[in-house]
Amino acid sequence: MGVFDGKKILIMGVASERSIAWAIAEALHREGAELAFSYPNESLEKRVRPLAEQLGSRNVIRCDVQSDSDLQNLFNCLEASWGRVDGLVHSIAFAEKEDLQRRFSETSRAGFHTALDVSAYSLIAVCGKLARLFPEDGGSVVTLTYLGSQRVVQHYNVMGVAKAALEASVRYLAADLGEQGIRVNAISAGPIRTLAASGIPKFKEMLGEFGDKAPLKKPLTTEDVANVALHLLGPASVAVTGETTYVDCGFNIMGI
Ligand code: NAD
Repeated sequence: MGVFDGKKILIMGVASERSIAWAIAEALHREGAELAFSYPNESLEKRVRPLAEQLGSRNVIRCDVQSDSDLQNLFNCLEASWGRVDGLVHSIAFAEKEDLQRRFSETSRAGFHTALDVSAYSLIAVCGKLARLFPEDGGSVVTLTYLGSQRVVQHYNVMGVAKAALEASVRYLAADLGEQGIRVNAISAGPIRTLAASGIPKFKEMLGEFGDKAPLKKPLTTEDVANVALHLLGPASVAVTGETTYVDCGFNIMGI
């Protein structure tokens, strides 16, 4: 018997076996959840389909979160295949490389728009689209954020602003969807080497400082994040919504 037996959960943001979303998907599968996956384009479809099949899922749906027709397609496919959704994992972010390399004051208007659209607005858009598919007793949404929303992290730049907007959106969505029993929470993960992380200049130095400063002297893994995601998606957290939970070996509490 798994904690998620009979639950239908959509996973958005698998790009590889290193993805945080993949570790969450594996953990949910172990606990009995039925999973659907989304991908943004054909080249990622080639990676996501075989991974989804490893977890017994053929429910693999195109959804570039910048496309309104793809968002509608996501709703249509889930309504047709499942008729309901019990949970959503939103593990998506993107910023143009140039906007992470140049000075923050030189962030382009287009780059700002793209980062905020993909990394923050997408949560609002997906929750808005799928809210009708959640059952009467509600469900749970989890998104991924980073400390760069609260503190200045060199080179995180416009992604920090996007994550601040994402965390505020979590609170507004939690307030808005609470009466439907839908909970919305964020996990603020410490640095982990993934495809998205490789786009951040000096990520290696970031990992080094993390290792030096974090109270818990262990490397942070995607499984560590997945375990907390399971808690937030599951019945043990039915009274928790609108929160940002740090899973960063304690790094965020440290001063000098
Ligand atoms: P990842 O590269 O495996 O995942 C990022 C995902 O975003 C990919 O699956 C990609 O397809 C998706 N994506 C990008 N643009 C999209 C679009 N237009 N439409 C749909 N999907 C799109 O990297 P990850 O590190 O697992 O990142 C997942 C989340 O975790 C991100 O929100 C990231 O900011 C956050 N996070 C990562 C770290 C870290 O150190 N890796 C730390 C804290 C938070």
